[in-house]
Amino acid sequence: MSNVLYDALFASHQGSSRPFLYLPGGRILTYDRFVRLSARIAHVIRDHGALPGERVVAQVQKSAEALALYAACIQAGVIFVPLNTAYTPNEVEYFIGNAEPRLVVCDDAARAALAPFADGIGAGLLTLNGDGSGTLATEAEGRAEQFDTVSRSGEDLAALLYTSGTTGRSKGAMLTHDNLLSNARALTEAWRFTADDVLLHALPIFHTHGLFVAGNVMLLAGGSMIFLPSFRTDEVIGWLPKATSMMGVPTFYTRLLDDPRFTRELVSHMRLFTSGSAPLLAETHIAFEARTGHRILERYGMTETNMTTSNPYDGERRAGTVGFPLPDVEIRVVEPETGKLVPEGEVGVLEVRGPNVFKGYWRMPEKTREEFREDGFFITGDVVTIDPDGYVHIVGRAKDLIISGGFNIYPKEVELLLDEQEGVLESAVIGVPHPDFGEGVVGIVVPKNGSTLDEAGLLAAIQGRIARFKQPKRIFVIDELPRNAMGKVQKNILRERFAAAFQAG
Ligand code: AMP
Repeated sequence: MSNVLYDALFASHQGSSRPFLYLPGGRILTYDRFVRLSARIAHVIRDHGALPGERVVAQVQKSAEALALYAACIQAGVIFVPLNTAYTPNEVEYFIGNAEPRLVVCDDAARAALAPFADGIGAGLLTLNGDGSGTLATEAEGRAEQFDTVSRSGEDLAALLYTSGTTGRSKGAMLTHDNLLSNARALTEAWRFTADDVLLHALPIFHTHGLFVAGNVMLLAGGSMIFLPSFRTDEVIGWLPKATSMMGVPTFYTRLLDDPRFTRELVSHMRLFTSGSAPLLAETHIAFEARTGHRILERYGMTETNMTTSNPYDGERRAGTVGFPLPDVEIRVVEPETGKLVPEGEVGVLEVRGPNVFKGYWRMPEKTREEFREDGFFITGDVVTIDPDGYVHIVGRAKDLIISGGFNIYPKEVELLLDEQEGVLESAVIGVPHPDFGEGVVGIVVPKNGSTLDEAGLLAAIQGRIARFKQPKRIFVIDELPRNAMGKVQKNILRERFAAAFQAG
């Protein structure tokens, strides 16, 4: 019996007394205890009828137990479906309907709201809170600490991760055991992670960055993680002396640079800082080096492709670039309409092929066909150029994706909600520079004839309707949207006009 991912990431840690997770409050979980915990949870999953190939949806706070739930799913051959904790119950209803899990795991606080959706498809519902308590923990108590690992091949699905859709519908990216393991191997090697590493982990674990890039790499390397519930500057500064490395989104680095306690001495012992999920401004890269002497290693990827490119560990880490393709990953830059290669050095859409690339969108064969070329290249939608030395530069995002605090927001979804509001004729949603979040969401609305609109009223009206990170932080009322000859709203003009929305003063 073999299980590609479980064997590589978890099985070898059985019996190991090495520390795996350093948790707030001083608790340390060894590898052996983690593997036993996940085996107990695997029994609970099985009790609830989740058979190999079926799904478990988890909308839970970050905790050791939440990570063990992921391990348990892998061991039981079940497809793990983590959800952003910011999603509201009506958003989760869609994911439950689409993924059709056997079991839903959520916070106690969300139980009542999600119960009808789980009941509706005959799924079980258990709770898991940020402190590890809940019915999942109760059911796992006293269970056998061994579980017969279910056999899984490299082509079997390990996880479904939902990405936002431009049409407002999220798509479940199907990730196989091979997708995840090949990427974990490539990154562990590229970034030289070993069992001696202690990674400061302040990322969420419902997203590819925190769960796979950070989690799988550390499991494969056998290192430890300082596992913080979220990024809080005070806490991170307190823990940094015990870490060898940190993986972050650009916001982490701008926040650290804003704090006078973040000094060269504090991080002189560190081996590596990486950044990704959103563009790291060249000025942040430069300021970071000036302050600490470290050059942040920026890499690029997406839910569908895992990591695609990385700046080199040795060699120049070039500010404002995402480096070179990882080993075995092929990239090309094409004209979006024709799919023809653009001349060297020109701008086009990045396409990717390799063992890292997902198997398609769950139950959306048409969407899958649209986003793959016939020769197997995936169309990322990211607009890039490659410089003469081979470094990839991301110059924009097709489809106007907004990335705020590391989370993706597709304007369309927010625009649809604004358009529903009383007195709104039409709207446009854009991202503009925000000192803390990288980009901040701005809504621009045009009133219907004879109506008056005000920012506070609109902001109040959309509270609770969509996840908080998607809600505009500012809303401006204007007379008409700028449009080109083809009738398309010219968002570039709006971005310029409202560029200073979040500037101080
Ligand atoms: P996600 O699927 O949430 O991981 O988002 C993927 C998107 O984030 C990519 O398609 C890029 O647009 C963006 N992204 C990820 N890493 C970087 C980076 N280092 N620089 C610029 N954009 C990035």
